[in-house]
Amino acid sequence: MRLSELKPGQTGVITKILGHGAFRKRVMEMGFVKDREVSVVLNAPLQDPVKYALMDYEVSLRRAEADLVEVQLLEEWVKARVHLDAHTEEHEEAELLDIRKDKIINVALIGNPNCGKTSLFNQVSGAREHVGNYAGVTVGAKEGFINYKGYLLKIVDLPGTYSLSAYSPEELYVMRYLREETPDVIVNVVVASNLERNLYLTTELIDMNRSMVIDLNMFDELKKSGSKLDYKLLGKMLGVPMVPTVAASGKGISDLLDTVIEVYEMRSSDTRHIHIQMNPEIEKAIRILIDCFKQDRSISHHFSPRFLAIKFLEKDPEVEEMLRPYPGYDKWCAIRDTQNNLIEKALHEDTVSAIAAEKYGFIQGALAETFDGGEAKEEKSTKIIDTFVTNKLFGFPLFLAIMWLMFWATFQLGSYPMEWIESLVSWISGTIGEYMSDGPLKDLILDGIIGGVGGVIVFLPNILILYTFISFMEDSGYMARVAFIMDKLMHKMGLHGKSFIPLVMGFGCNVPAIMSTRIIESKSSRLITILINPFMSCSARIPIYVLLVGCFFPHYGAWVFVGLYTLGIAVAIITARLMRKFWMKDDETPFVMELPPYRLPTFKATMRNMWSKAEQYLKKMGGLILVASIIIWALSYFPRYDEKDIPNTFRTETLKEMSPERISELGEAKVNDLILNEYQQSHSILGGIGRFVEPVVSPMEFGWKPCVSLIAGSAAKEVVVSTLGVLYVGEDDADLLSDRLQTPSKITGETPFTPQSALSYMVFVLLYFPCIATLAAIARETGSWKYSLFSIVYNTALAWIFAFITFKIAMLF
Ligand code: GDP
Ligand code: MG
Repeated sequence: MRLSELKPGQTGVITKILGHGAFRKRVMEMGFVKDREVSVVLNAPLQDPVKYALMDYEVSLRRAEADLVEVQLLEEWVKARVHLDAHTEEHEEAELLDIRKDKIINVALIGNPNCGKTSLFNQVSGAREHVGNYAGVTVGAKEGFINYKGYLLKIVDLPGTYSLSAYSPEELYVMRYLREETPDVIVNVVVASNLERNLYLTTELIDMNRSMVIDLNMFDELKKSGSKLDYKLLGKMLGVPMVPTVAASGKGISDLLDTVIEVYEMRSSDTRHIHIQMNPEIEKAIRILIDCFKQDRSISHHFSPRFLAIKFLEKDPEVEEMLRPYPGYDKWCAIRDTQNNLIEKALHEDTVSAIAAEKYGFIQGALAETFDGGEAKEEKSTKIIDTFVTNKLFGFPLFLAIMWLMFWATFQLGSYPMEWIESLVSWISGTIGEYMSDGPLKDLILDGIIGGVGGVIVFLPNILILYTFISFMEDSGYMARVAFIMDKLMHKMGLHGKSFIPLVMGFGCNVPAIMSTRIIESKSSRLITILINPFMSCSARIPIYVLLVGCFFPHYGAWVFVGLYTLGIAVAIITARLMRKFWMKDDETPFVMELPPYRLPTFKATMRNMWSKAEQYLKKMGGLILVASIIIWALSYFPRYDEKDIPNTFRTETLKEMSPERISELGEAKVNDLILNEYQQSHSILGGIGRFVEPVVSPMEFGWKPCVSLIAGSAAKEVVVSTLGVLYVGEDDADLLSDRLQTPSKITGETPFTPQSALSYMVFVLLYFPCIATLAAIARETGSWKYSLFSIVYNTALAWIFAFITFKIAMLF
């Protein structure tokens, strides 16, 4: 609530000071700062000013000013504080003692796309958010905390924007964030080597007149290029302190935080409010509009009148929306239109371009005095690399070659560390097998837990290698080029070049990929991109490929991988085309993705990325996969049967499948054992389900066990492998899953998979219904479960058809 709404006798606690500039300063100097108690002494209706008691003395405040102070009733505040304390408990307690509650600084990171906001955010808060060298990686706002010199800084990472207007979803998001959250200090991140464009946003923030620090990021690049920048002077000219940093390595960050605190405490000598003077014609229009807005003080609660006036002149829809409720709105519109006409007549261009030109003029002027551009080496090497990478002839083969290398490394290089983990797992189960006495508990641990989780965990190295490649491609800027060369192809699909990024992210995990489609402005493009995303083979499917390829195609690993991934992409393209043709008719927006200069990712960032992926994988193993393995084990273990329970028909049927030689070779006791085992598994709860659905996939010759594994894979695709691990119990406890899959059944003499059925199984896994997390993401992002249902039906049908075709073709060889 607002301070003005507080009734006599009530006590409130100040939570936020709205407004900006001189007003904010004055109110704060009067003692109205965050977390102070304030109570009303005298507040008669219609009386202005109102008397308040604050820190043992009385102050009077105009009602309009009291409107700009947000308070919370004391009781509520105490409750909320207990909540906050619980939240900050994660931070070291000793440090917490030093933090006074009025020393929480809300900091918002604002800057162009790809300027290093998320890198900075990660460095400061120790988070591991996704960083990539292309625009549009961050969607939504991320919060992080850091204790610094007795303050608790709450940092918010926002999506990148080029300006503050209601043009794109990101811009709108940032603008609304600034309006509603009123951060204490804005950190405007700018790229040091590309100041001209980056400072445009800065000029708009200056218009807003908020407490601000400019983070001159990528200072290393500026230095390397040989340019010189007098950033001290530039900061003075802009009235905003500037701090050089290298967010990727963490250099300069403590200086930046020091400056944030200085600005917050209003101690910074560089802070000063400037007006970016524009053409007199425009200035006159702005002045007239500001006078209009003065009628109602509540108009400028959130944004400065100057900012509102400029945006209103530019006909910004969001600002129009904000002003519409006021009674003078229609009159203001008329005034605005007259002024716009005057400006256009005087300057011979439309107001929006005129304002932009003035601002760029201001920036150029400021840079002319402070910036000395040397030879831009970085740009040169970027140009040379780009002639090859984006070349019509070489671009595509190069991309395929890199993909091949990536999969070769995933499979081949990954197989060594994989063997180490495998021998560890087999040693553990061998030892347990030796020392534990027989019984259900031993079966649970050996067949359920180690069989399931152990079967999947061995693929950790492969997944890390793949992720390293992907994150290198993202960080270096190569991915943006791939999007660029793919643009043509994407347009053929009726999609946008921007859609490519979520698709590539899908190789990691479909869930964040589907979330990142928010960068796509066109609704139908976005929907199509979401629906074809599951065809991008996510990393959870890799264990299945590595397992089966290792068993049946050890010499063609990379080729099978490239084949599968290409098939996934092809199916995605076909689907997109079909949807465009029959369902959602075209709407194309021009390709605006920029090509950032190439950057060598730092070792530290790469390691951090790897570690975070490893952590995620291990957590999944210890959580979801463990639980799923135990459930699957229990379903396949119960109900228990005895020799007596086996009907005679089953015995004779099974015996018929065995050749007489094998029966005599094994001996009667062993044969009876085998029959009991077979009956036990196939008549367990899971076996019942499996035998029920098996006919659906029998044309591809998947047995009931692989079939059940597919169903279990709906929890997460790794579960397909862990289920196979639980269901194919080895002869010896130390047997590896890959060996078990190649051992012929004692009864039928057949292996669980043939090369043909293995290949067709991989195709099925590639295409069939997405996991639950992905289905939920689809429903959330499209706003309807209908689309998730569509995915289940359509994808599974396609999977069946393609698996069948694959099987038939493979049988020819
Ligand atoms: P955002 O879009 O603003 O969130 O930017 P990101 O944090 O995702 O970073 C964009 C790219 O710039 C990544 O490839 C980073 O590794 C790289 N980067 C970030 N900060 C620096 C820096 O200070 N110097 C250099 N050379 N590269 C940086
Ligand atoms: Mg980001």
